[in-house]
Amino acid sequence: ESKSDGRGKLKIFQPAMLHARQMRNQLVGELKEAIAGSQLVLHYQPIIKLDSREIEGVEALVRWNHPTRGLIMPDEFIPIAEETGMISDLGAWVLRTAVEQLKQWRSDPLTARHNFSMRINVSAADLQRLEFVEDVREALSAAGLDPSLLVLELTESAVIQGNDLDRYTLNSLQRLGVGLEIDDFGTGYSSISYLRQLPVDTVKVDRTLLSALGSDPSQPALLAAVLQLIRACGLKAVWEGVETAEQAEYLLGIGCTSGQGYYFSRPLGAAQLTEQLKHHKVWPIS
Ligand code: C2E
Ligand code: MG
Ligand code: MG
Ligand code: MG
Repeated sequence: ESKSDGRGKLKIFQPAMLHARQMRNQLVGELKEAIAGSQLVLHYQPIIKLDSREIEGVEALVRWNHPTRGLIMPDEFIPIAEETGMISDLGAWVLRTAVEQLKQWRSDPLTARHNFSMRINVSAADLQRLEFVEDVREALSAAGLDPSLLVLELTESAVIQGNDLDRYTLNSLQRLGVGLEIDDFGTGYSSISYLRQLPVDTVKVDRTLLSALGSDPSQPALLAAVLQLIRACGLKAVWEGVETAEQAEYLLGIGCTSGQGYYFSRPLGAAQLTEQLKHHKVWPIS
């Protein structure tokens, strides 16, 4: 259906747009319930030592187990949580749940690994909350865990566009002793000067840098240069998006020590990862 808006232009009714907005409004309401109830779930993706192929830790990745729509991935609801302010409640839940799970894995001799660490993704909005550092400190001390066993992943945009409060939060977190990592490195922001200034210790290189390996002749030299740059800044590198044995070999060859990706393992539910930790020492599991 269409009608004139009176200025000679046609205003076209777009059912698709209206539908999208209704869907979103419905999701906003449901997400609130999901956070308060128990519809969120964490999956854990192994980070692998590229030389020994042992697991060195996991990254917690949130999913929404929706009662009628099934498993919803974070790209569909994290932005909504950020826009509506629900992200701090969501983040608090992720922090508590991940730290509690880390405690369980570390305290069971069948699943415990030396220095086994937990990574969680932190939203830019978390750095704006004065209580965030206290939340992290409390979660760790309640679980009796050394702060160095928790690594907070922050996106480039969150840390680069950061204001004084962000910087204050980052410095406080560093003093607390948790690991700080820049996530999705190399996805569009200038990178060199801030790498040296920020209180971070690890850089996770975005998978898009790896995906052209093999097809683009200049890519190997570029990957090696990126790794050198990170090293020259005194930081440790983790490569994400490792999907093939060749990529894993290549990264090891240029001196990268840690990798993460579907080649080693997809993100797994807690029970599934527990089983793998009990029965397997090297990854990928055959
Ligand atoms: P991220 O932190 O960069 O996480 C890596 C994403 O890449 C995950 O998608 C993971 O499943 C996927 N991935 C891992 N290995 C491979 C691979 O080999 N190939 C490909 N193609 N993909 C791979 P996921 O779980 O859908 O998460 C998407 C993003 O959502 C995350 O990107 C992160 O930015 C955000 N996110 C996830 N969980 C949380 C959370 O608890 N809090 C916040 N604030 N953000 C989260
Ligand atoms: Mg991440
Ligand atoms: Mg990433
Ligand atoms: Mg990403």
